[in-house]
Amino acid sequence: MMKISDYFGENVFSKAVMRERLPLEVFDEVCSVEQNGGQISMAAADVVAKAMMEWAIERGATHYTHWFLPLTGVTAEKHDSFLSAPDADGNVIMKLTGKQLIMGEPDASSFPTGGLRATHYARGYTAWDITSPAFVKEMSCGTILCIPTVFLSYTGEALDNKTPLLRSMEALSQQALRVVRLFGDNAAKKVIPSVGAEQEYFIVDREKYLKRRDLIYTGRTLFGAPAPKGQELEDQYFGVIRERVGAFMADLNVELWKMGITATTQHNEVAPAQHECAPIYTSCNVAVDHNQLTMETMKRVAGRHDLVCLLHEKPFARVNGSGKHNNWSIATDTGENLLEPGTTPNDNLQFLLILSCIIKAVDRHADLLRMSTACVGNDLRLGADEAPPAIISIFLGSQLEDVVEQIVKNGTAAECIAGAQLDAGISTLPRIQRDAADRNRTSPFAFTGNKFEFRMVGSSDCIANSNTVLNAIVAEALCEAADVLETSADFAAEACRVIAENLREHSRVIFNGNGYSGEWVEEAARRGLPNLPSMVSSVPSLTTKKSINLFEKFGVFTRAELESRSEIMYETYAKTTSIEARTMAHMAAKHYTPAIVRYMARLGDSICKVRNACPQASTQVQEKLLSKTGRLLTQADEALEHLRQCIDQSTRLECMRDVANYCHDSLVPAMQALRAPIDELELIVDKDLWPVPTYGDLMFEV
Ligand code: ADP
Ligand code: MG
Repeated sequence: MMKISDYFGENVFSKAVMRERLPLEVFDEVCSVEQNGGQISMAAADVVAKAMMEWAIERGATHYTHWFLPLTGVTAEKHDSFLSAPDADGNVIMKLTGKQLIMGEPDASSFPTGGLRATHYARGYTAWDITSPAFVKEMSCGTILCIPTVFLSYTGEALDNKTPLLRSMEALSQQALRVVRLFGDNAAKKVIPSVGAEQEYFIVDREKYLKRRDLIYTGRTLFGAPAPKGQELEDQYFGVIRERVGAFMADLNVELWKMGITATTQHNEVAPAQHECAPIYTSCNVAVDHNQLTMETMKRVAGRHDLVCLLHEKPFARVNGSGKHNNWSIATDTGENLLEPGTTPNDNLQFLLILSCIIKAVDRHADLLRMSTACVGNDLRLGADEAPPAIISIFLGSQLEDVVEQIVKNGTAAECIAGAQLDAGISTLPRIQRDAADRNRTSPFAFTGNKFEFRMVGSSDCIANSNTVLNAIVAEALCEAADVLETSADFAAEACRVIAENLREHSRVIFNGNGYSGEWVEEAARRGLPNLPSMVSSVPSLTTKKSINLFEKFGVFTRAELESRSEIMYETYAKTTSIEARTMAHMAAKHYTPAIVRYMARLGDSICKVRNACPQASTQVQEKLLSKTGRLLTQADEALEHLRQCIDQSTRLECMRDVANYCHDSLVPAMQALRAPIDELELIVDKDLWPVPTYGDLMFEV
């Protein structure tokens, strides 16, 4: 039996590996650049590259790749072998140089750039991100050394999700350091955002999956009547994990652990066939890389079990969708979590100042935070018919809400509610110390003890975007506080004033009630909180004056980068919905209509045969079914015709923004109009004629 400790992190070129394999001065240089920034010398890079290659080859690697996060939302890799030209005797030479380690030059022309550069200027650069460790990935095509990198255009603009994230982390660190200095912390050199991303996903049988073009092309079901059983019994949540899914999870854990990913929590989620996997939190940058790797590994490992992992936000209508709870906190490099309230938060001035800055940031930039979670799939999970509203609000819990109320009213908080002991009335039970505040499962941005849990993020999305926005908006609020406080004569009094001011101006964003209720939508509107129900409606927040000022001031995005990203969002929306629409048209024409026609013929045959055989027998049921089926098929056919016209119309528009809006306003409703009669027919037509596996087959037969 192997113990976890025998193989945990064995595929990571970790600090420990470097300490063992690098000369001390080179190791120190790498650590110093990682900690304090600066350039690694080419001489050191050569040494690191050689050690990294030798280590990777020992682990079976044949190739290396600069691994990066382009704006497709998934990762990119191009494998190059370590081979270089054989010597005169024909002996093969393996090589990875410092230059190859620190930069690469992939052809950038086929990655989304949002108009940042013309296609014929194809140059792009990848540059080594020393803050995220290199690792090897074991795949069917071989074992590959992956070097995390950023991806930049020829003119230095970010073409990836990593560059702005790293910039935002530096901005946050600088501003938060100013604040902790004011409170007398002279030891911290850095403030680091930490993230733990809980990943939700669905697992379905691969054979059934392959029978559905919608799952194959779009990752979700575009048709499907609800199964007789959904999630209403709440028996799936935390239920016993099915054997086949359990075997997948066990295998997944091993793969993740080998890559140093601390997968720790696993359980069944609310919807049938839905599950969750969560790691232990780590620095924001590494957490982003780990989450990308987790998603990729889930898909790969599922395949080995003849299963498919669906990461789409809403693979099935009418049951819960999947998200990614992004747990976020900030801590000094000396280990102090700045979101730790202590037992008496009312007199923890530093905590209150930082909390008030976060509240200010979230209220002021609610639109940006919302935008950062926008992806096509999340439109079905946020703000849609069966989904919670896409309104940003903060849940603080009773203890902190009470403190905030006191400060708003009196300028300071004299007292705070303490946690109590729970008494279950059973003498043998351990005494449970109850937390000072309860939890709230409906809040998009909830304080959970010593961190915020941002729950709007979509399950398939790259978490870099949300964390970039979060880091940047908080950096801005901390900067404003530091600007005032650094020059104040009476620091404590001034800090109290800033806290009260932040809370008075921004406490409208605090909401402790049921965020899923209709009343909240009205209440939020009264409070003036933005409600951006769709991806297309959220894109304009990227390029408002407020947004450009924020991101340019802290060097996170240039205006051109923001404009390119909004272009890419429109483009992604338009392309994805068009693929969905074409898939629906294909399925309706090639799968559903022929099956329904066959069913009608079967009914017709039956009517004729029964009449022939026994004229006095009733054929009423067959006739009723036949006429109902005929009516629904006509309705479906008309809807199909209309959908085709909409698809055609969408290709005639020039500007991406117009295409995206057209898809949202016309194409999506046309898709719904086609789905409705087909879903109704699914409940009528013989099971043996129905051309695809149903919701029941997919969610309950794994
Ligand atoms: P849940 O919210 O589902 O009850 P947990 O409280 O266990 O789950 O935490 C969920 C995630 O939050 C885990 O990935 C965990 O590592 C992460 N987490 C815990 N503490 C912090 C923190 N201080 N900063 C960021 N993430 C954290
Ligand atoms: Mg959670």
